Amino acid sequence: MTTTTTTLTGHSILAGREVPGAGGTTRAVDPATGEHLGPAYTLLDEAQLAEATAAAEEASASFGDLDPQAHAGFLERIAANIEAVAGELVERAGAETGLPAARLNGELARTTGQLRLFASVVRQGDHRGVRVEHALPDRTPLPRPDLRQRKVPLGPVAVFGASNFPFAFSTAGGDTASALAAGCPVVFKAHNAHPGTGELVGRAVTDAVAACGLHPGVFSLVYGPGASIGQALVRDPRITAVGFTGSRAGGTALMATAAARPVPIPVYAEMSSINPVVVLEGALRGDVEALARGYVASLTGSSGQLCTAPGLLFVPAGETGEAFLAAVERALADAAGQTMLTPGIAGSWREGVDALGAQEGVGVVARGAEGSTQHAPAPVVFESDVPTFRANPVLQEEIFGAASLVIRYRSPEELLGAVRRMEGQLTATLHLAEEDHPIAAALLPVLERKVGRILANGWPTGVDVGEAMVHGGPFPATSDARTTSVGTLAIERFLRPVAYQNLPGDLLPPPVQEANPWHLTRRVDGRLQPAEHTEGDRA
Ligand code: NAP
Repeated sequence: MTTTTTTLTGHSILAGREVPGAGGTTRAVDPATGEHLGPAYTLLDEAQLAEATAAAEEASASFGDLDPQAHAGFLERIAANIEAVAGELVERAGAETGLPAARLNGELARTTGQLRLFASVVRQGDHRGVRVEHALPDRTPLPRPDLRQRKVPLGPVAVFGASNFPFAFSTAGGDTASALAAGCPVVFKAHNAHPGTGELVGRAVTDAVAACGLHPGVFSLVYGPGASIGQALVRDPRITAVGFTGSRAGGTALMATAAARPVPIPVYAEMSSINPVVVLEGALRGDVEALARGYVASLTGSSGQLCTAPGLLFVPAGETGEAFLAAVERALADAAGQTMLTPGIAGSWREGVDALGAQEGVGVVARGAEGSTQHAPAPVVFESDVPTFRANPVLQEEIFGAASLVIRYRSPEELLGAVRRMEGQLTATLHLAEEDHPIAAALLPVLERKVGRILANGWPTGVDVGEAMVHGGPFPATSDARTTSVGTLAIERFLRPVAYQNLPGDLLPPPVQEANPWHLTRRVDGRLQPAEHTEGDRA
């Protein structure tokens, strides 16, 4: 047995306290070697879980009322604490996930950048959505009362991270960052595929809570199986919302649990997407080899274990389409399998590939090479046609990993018919030249109803974290198409509006006070009033 660090305890962190679980143990596995990593992680039982949720509820009022400077400083402190252990984090995450250091370093920078972006959101305060309507006592036929509106945090949020982003979609990833930025305490269900990484990040958050003098219930990290502890967390009456990134089965199970509670709560689950790419005829008059290399690179990066990997590609039937497929075959010949995140995920990938390959009317375009480790299967591209795609739902199922399906279309009408049959997706990509604009114009309204992000002449992997990003989309891409889990808009998921009617001025909270002490941009009597200072502007 090896360990990358001597500092890990293997315990849950309940409101700042390291607590051994009473419900058995588990160990991380290095997917490249099959070796177990220390320490053993002790799993909580349901009675212990209540300590975290009770503390989160207790922390809600003071954390939700934090002034913007202190609140933003807390998020920045988490980022700095993560950076302080960056070397140890990347080493441990590499051992637990098989992901290369370069990818993990980039992901860590994205995670700390995301926390700092949310700090700037908190300072600027647009998300508080303040509206003021002064009283109009002389209005006829009825006087208008004094009405003021702002958004308040929902309360404690349960967050479930994904296996494939041990930093950016895990312990202090996008869901945690946006919930904390909204003023919601977080109880994070640790991912059992990277428990040591989770503990190191969990400590960085816990230390920031203490250093900023916040109530310790602002953050807890709980180890335990999803089926027991995860479910119990979502059933807990003190939890007010759920953030989840992972499988369709896991997300829909949590949606059902949340809906069946005596008091149902929202679940923001990001689940399953095959991210269609539509190659139009004009795009194939350009550099077809480069196009094919781009496709294969996007498909095989991180072993295809990205929620935005291109699992489906439409190409015109005929000579140009065949030339593209031949180029894909050449590009794939240079691609070797990379270690997948867990033996279980590699096993599911093999099952998915076998199932797709066994469907009538589905053939193999090409396979890459097996990687050098046990769980590094050869990437594969399948092919079929629109009638088969429309008739068989198996062709739309996500295979998490480096497998993709190319569908030949014989006419723009056939292409449109296939796109209309697609499930909801995170992204859709168009490869096009100017001559293709009329077809693209016909596709766009269909795609807008199906996906959260539409790209032209690029590849869907690589999600920018910013103001205008949407990483969302209709079911099954997510459980709620009205929002995003990446980018600043993600904060809206954990807020709700409250109106104050005719409240005495000294009882009003700062965002809606007449003097605007937090210098927020507000809508006053129908007019947008920009903040008086620009210090907190988002760069
Ligand atoms: P996962 O198996 O769904 O697990 C995610 C988290 O949810 C884990 O902590 C897991 O705990 C918990 N969980 C799973 N099922 C649960 C249930 N029924 N009740 C309560 N908690 C439950 O996802 P993963 O580990 O990331 O596995 C990869 C899968 O995620 C792939 O299928 C991939 O398609 C999907 N994925 C999608 C996206 C996206 O953005 N659309 C991104 C990343 C991954 P336990 O492990 O302890 O059960």
